[in-house]
Amino acid sequence: MKTFDVVVIGAGPGGYVAAIRCAQLGLKTACVDKWQDDTGKAVLGGTCLNVGCIPSKALLESSHHYHNLKHNFAAHGISVTGAKLDLATMQKRRETIIGNLGQGIAGLLRKNKVTSLCGHARLLPQNQVEISLADGTKETLQAKNIIIATGSTPVEIPSAPLNGDTIVDSSGALTFTRVPKRLGIVGAGVIGLELGSVWSRLGSEVVLLEALDTFLPAADQQVAAGLRKSLTAQGLDIRLGARVSGTRKKGKKVTVTYSDAKGEQKLDFDRLVVAVGRRPVTDQLGADEIVLERDQTGRIPVNAQGQSNLPGIYAIGDATAGPMLAHKASEEGVAVAEAIAGQASKIDHDCIPGVIYTHPELAWVGETEESLKAAGTKYRKGSFPYLASGRAQGAGETEGMVKILADSQTDRILGVHIFGAQASELIAEAVTAMEFSASAEDLARTIHAHPTLAETLHEAALAVDGRAIHF
Ligand code: FAD
Ligand code: NAD
Repeated sequence: MKTFDVVVIGAGPGGYVAAIRCAQLGLKTACVDKWQDDTGKAVLGGTCLNVGCIPSKALLESSHHYHNLKHNFAAHGISVTGAKLDLATMQKRRETIIGNLGQGIAGLLRKNKVTSLCGHARLLPQNQVEISLADGTKETLQAKNIIIATGSTPVEIPSAPLNGDTIVDSSGALTFTRVPKRLGIVGAGVIGLELGSVWSRLGSEVVLLEALDTFLPAADQQVAAGLRKSLTAQGLDIRLGARVSGTRKKGKKVTVTYSDAKGEQKLDFDRLVVAVGRRPVTDQLGADEIVLERDQTGRIPVNAQGQSNLPGIYAIGDATAGPMLAHKASEEGVAVAEAIAGQASKIDHDCIPGVIYTHPELAWVGETEESLKAAGTKYRKGSFPYLASGRAQGAGETEGMVKILADSQTDRILGVHIFGAQASELIAEAVTAMEFSASAEDLARTIHAHPTLAETLHEAALAVDGRAIHF
């Protein structure tokens, strides 16, 4: 039986990063993933690379260019006639990016001497891992430590069962070969808004049916309201308090029945995307047989070092608690690898940025006004509009704002919320500041290059103390 210091199950952004870090630390490491393409070739990178972060961002970029070409370039004095969409090329580009990055991960695993295996892994007693390989054979590995990084999969709902044709999940919505004339999306969460934006920009009439009465309840409600207004103006029809009760295939279309404050309603769509959240993939791991604890949602509870209830078995990423985000999975992977190597390592779960890659983008870190009020924390806030930024004016990106929330006693930054162009990039400065326990005054005294969008953060920090210069 082959023995390893660490066997990582899953080669998504949690698993492959954990495996590389383990190898860097001198641990003999194997990384197992069951994912194969249609030709039986091993697929690395997990949800994030293959059906998540990367393909969605590729399509968001492409569709944003198309939208700008049709609607925004004229204001810059650039006019184009005969612009047309070549969806096949757009989709090919998405596939090429995934392929290239997948090869990159394979190269990184090789370079770091991680043994990469393709097969379904199952936990056995005494830290053994049984792998069912693609050719039907089985191999058992002995591991001193096991890192479970098995990720998540879309939640399915009985009222809208997937049929791979008219009703699909997010993976299906990334691979449409035709732009649906009418696209319904169940769930106005992150996936609904991002993929709704993609297809709306490419010409679909998009309706989002969201069960809750509140739009993006986890986000700061002031910036969330800004995003909702903007997306509505872009043509996304966001219906809150809409509970889908059934779907019926009608020829090549699907009829959706839902109820809201006005009663029962019916809508016809060419395609329906179900994007109502994701659930952890921990059910075919043999967890119950070895008495590995899981919570009601299937997530594996872990301690501050990422260790489960069983010694030597760790869990990271979407398979465990916290936001289902690629960067959270990767950082947990690094922290667990270092803990296994005997280093003191942990990540700051209060400082994980979240981004919604619509246009404008929404990005945040830390507390919202709502969470601070609920906790009774006294805070001061400073905000600054993109409209007052010279760089935003030059870029034609004047929609949006930055808001900084700081402790009213200590001035320590507690939360930063950005709704505007490049928010995903700008939030990194806020995360760094918060990791260093910066005060709003620290940011206010930091020199920012002019003209940049980052100056909006600088001005918002000044505004916390009522001394913004340009607003
Ligand atoms: P995964 O990436 O899900 O990887 C788990 C791997 O484990 C898979 O490859 C699977 O095949 C393998 N596996 C499972 N069980 C077994 C087993 N028993 N044996 C062997 N292998 C197994 N996050 C962001 O931070 N930014 C974004 O922009 C973003 N966009 C997204 C867009 C979409 C459409 C979706 C669906 C998700 C997006 N996410 C985004 C979320 C992100 O993809 C996940 O949080 C991230 O992939 C989780 O990483 P992970 O390593 O925990 O799991
Ligand atoms: P989500 O939790 O963001 O949104 C799901 C939405 O569906 C919620 O608003 C929920 O109230 C609603 N909903 C649930 N059941 C419903 C029902 N029966 N009818 C109507 N609405 C219903 O989940 P998601 O958008 O599916 O994304 C899944 C995960 O993937 C998220 O946790 C997210 O972190 C991750 N993700 C991240 C990014 C990013 O970081 N930019 C992008 C995509 C996905």
